[in-house]
Amino acid sequence: MKTIDLEKICEGAEKIGISGHVRPDGDCVGSCMALYLYLKKTVREADISVFLEKPAEIYNSLQGVDEIRTEAGEDEVFDVFFALDSSADRLGEAEKLFRQAKKKVNIDHHISNEQGCGDENYVIPAASSTSELVYKLMKKDKVDAEIAKAVYIGIIHDTGVFQYSNTSPETMRIGAELIAYGFDFPKLIEETFYEKSYVQNQILGRALLESVLFMDGRCIVSVVEKKTMDFYQVTPKDLDGIVNQIRNTKGVDCAIFLYQTGVLEYKVSMRSNEKVNVAEVAAFFGGGGHMRAAGCTMSGTYHDVINNLSLHIEKQFQKKD
Ligand code: 5GP
Ligand code: MN
Repeated sequence: MKTIDLEKICEGAEKIGISGHVRPDGDCVGSCMALYLYLKKTVREADISVFLEKPAEIYNSLQGVDEIRTEAGEDEVFDVFFALDSSADRLGEAEKLFRQAKKKVNIDHHISNEQGCGDENYVIPAASSTSELVYKLMKKDKVDAEIAKAVYIGIIHDTGVFQYSNTSPETMRIGAELIAYGFDFPKLIEETFYEKSYVQNQILGRALLESVLFMDGRCIVSVVEKKTMDFYQVTPKDLDGIVNQIRNTKGVDCAIFLYQTGVLEYKVSMRSNEKVNVAEVAAFFGGGGHMRAAGCTMSGTYHDVINNLSLHIEKQFQKKD
């Protein structure tokens, strides 16, 4: 896919909007804030807003997070609206703003959104992160330490600190360029990726303790019910990273983590090491993501959900064995 030209796209725009997916993760927050800071610097005459659900507190050190708008006005019409790390239908509050914008731009790396949903699309499924893509569109002489830090956060979160198979030589080169801006990257990695609060560790421990191996030890599943979340007083944001931890179990290819979002409703997170294309499994149930990390929301009891997912995971194993 050819690249897009941010300068041309924003030329003459008076009102610019930026948004990312619901339940924003590090890449979503990082890419939105990086583009926000960059456009404020380079399209000075425009009124620029960024719309997101309130990010987790770990992102508070990013410049501009306190300017994020969590609610969208009904009749606001933007000259240009960017959907980052997301398809239009996952923008939540901002979906209507995107759809009624004069120019829609989509920058993403989800294979489940390969076609793109904008008038202009820059969707590269092979890219490590949307943050990497946003950085590639920037004029390097306009990047500063705060922008670099936001891009870096996005990349480390989507690559598991340059570990997952989506990390390319280019990702590493960009990582090197970014740390040259001089922000405190070890602290950023520690505080946003590894450090957990006491209750986060407690619920992680619970999820590990109660995890169950199945399919001859090739899959693992763990569930956190609403009542357990209430007991530990945790919110969905506190459950980030649990699925990666259960995936580390020796012999496991596919890890599934569920948390209850309503009566007979679960949010599903899936990870795979090698064989199962979890993007395909998630897409079947109306979700999406990447080959090695994907998610969806499913209805039914915990057992219904696992049975339904298992059928599709089994098929994936059969394809590869
Ligand atoms: P996580 O398991 O960390 O929530 O998500 C893993 C990946 O799958 C992320 O890239 C995330 O954006 C994507 N994803 C998670 N849930 C959904 C969903 O319900 N729909 C779509 N389209 N993508 C999802
Ligand atoms: Mn991403």
